[in-house]
Amino acid sequence: MQYICVQVGLLDTNCYIFFDNNRQGVVVDPGGNSGRILNIIKQHGLNILYVLLTHVHFDHFLAAGDVIRSTGAKLLVPKDDETALSDPGRSLISLAAGGLGTALKSDRVLCDGDEITAGELKIKVLSTPGHTPGSSCYICGDLLLSGDTLFAGSIGRTDFPGGSFEDIRQSLEKLKSLKGDYTVLPGHGPSTTLSAEKTGNPYMSADGFGC
Ligand SMILES: [Zn+2]
Repeated sequence: MQYICVQVGLLDTNCYIFFDNNRQGVVVDPGGNSGRILNIIKQHGLNILYVLLTHVHFDHFLAAGDVIRSTGAKLLVPKDDETALSDPGRSLISLAAGGLGTALKSDRVLCDGDEITAGELKIKVLSTPGHTPGSSCYICGDLLLSGDTLFAGSIGRTDFPGGSFEDIRQSLEKLKSLKGDYTVLPGHGPSTTLSAEKTGNPYMSADGFGC
């Protein structure tokens, strides 16, 4: 399995392109710059089976329509964020210049514990609400795609519509309880490891929420 991270859009969202040895792949969070994403897909000769969203905020899906139209990929969206696809207030799309022409439609909604198979890739869904109601992390091998739930040294905001600080606190507990270590690939900023965040991230360390 290989992956490529490409920073896209005004908010430097990390879009990840994963693919197996047979070049079957998925695109996670295509938040903008569809041309760059499609170029990478073409350069590597990838067959993109799915576009996967960690949550439905515009900076994570603005290029999803273009990628889907060009590749024929199916759109997979966390169940509790699905309605946000057609809700500008929740997707924050009203903040994005130009907005989105037509609302995206999901081909399948994802629930906690679901598994996605794309060629040789096996991706497990972990519901981690808080940043948005449907926010989800995806585990692929020893990689943990954390969306806007967990960043290196920080966590996602909970003050957008549908956000919940109590929910993200519980979601972080869920991530802390994962056995073994993972390379964490967040929706923004540098990659990190789960073990480094468990000890060094104030929101994850034992007394981080004690105030
Ligand atoms: Zn977000």
